[in-house]
Amino acid sequence: MSKIGIMGGTFDPIHYGHLVTAEGVRAEFNLDYVMFVPAGNPPHKKRYKITDPQHRYLMTVLATVTNPFFEVSRIEIERQGFSYTVDTIKELEKRFPTDTELYFITGADAVLEILTWKEVDRLLAMCKFVAATRPGYEIPELNKKIAEIEKTYSQKIFLVEVPAMAISSTDIRRRVSEGRPIKYLLPESVEYYILKNNLYK
Ligand code: ATP
Ligand code: MG
Repeated sequence: MSKIGIMGGTFDPIHYGHLVTAEGVRAEFNLDYVMFVPAGNPPHKKRYKITDPQHRYLMTVLATVTNPFFEVSRIEIERQGFSYTVDTIKELEKRFPTDTELYFITGADAVLEILTWKEVDRLLAMCKFVAATRPGYEIPELNKKIAEIEKTYSQKIFLVEVPAMAISSTDIRRRVSEGRPIKYLLPESVEYYILKNNLYK
């Protein structure tokens, strides 16, 4: 039986917060590997103009090359319309052997929002949910929310503590646009990719 982690995100751009989270959860649950799934057209993110999926995909590939347990999937960026996680998981389920266990990895902020996601009951039944800690989100508050979701949907949600990385893509985009440094917040290859392609200016 294999155990596969699914790490969804906009990855605009990918940074060490994403990578530390995925690696922490992989080790904790002894996952075979983690599949990063850059979102195509995320329904939740309409506040700013999202970078071309091709750039986000390539940055995710660059950031993950040094980890033999990380892979990147084009499943969402190739799909038309909004990317709903439940549709992605349904599609992935068909591709893996039936005894595969899927672990869906999210940060604390995302788990607080999952009740607004499409077919959340179905989603929670299809995969194990892992909520990773994230700076700015208190563990007691998280535990409370998790208990609520667990009660409503009769599904367990796992809370995993990962090293605190006070990094967000929003902050990185802002830094680039203001000409402030992004060094050491994300892999060097991604930093150079951003500069070379003049992203976030
Ligand atoms: P943005 O600021 O554009 O929302 P982000 O940094 O939150 O970007 P996303 O692509 O939105 O990155 O996040 C993808 C997933 O990674 C989400 O589940 C999010 O909670 C998680 N995540 C992002 N940054 C961190 C971090 N620093 N620590 C833990 N989890 C994180
Ligand atoms: Mg986010």
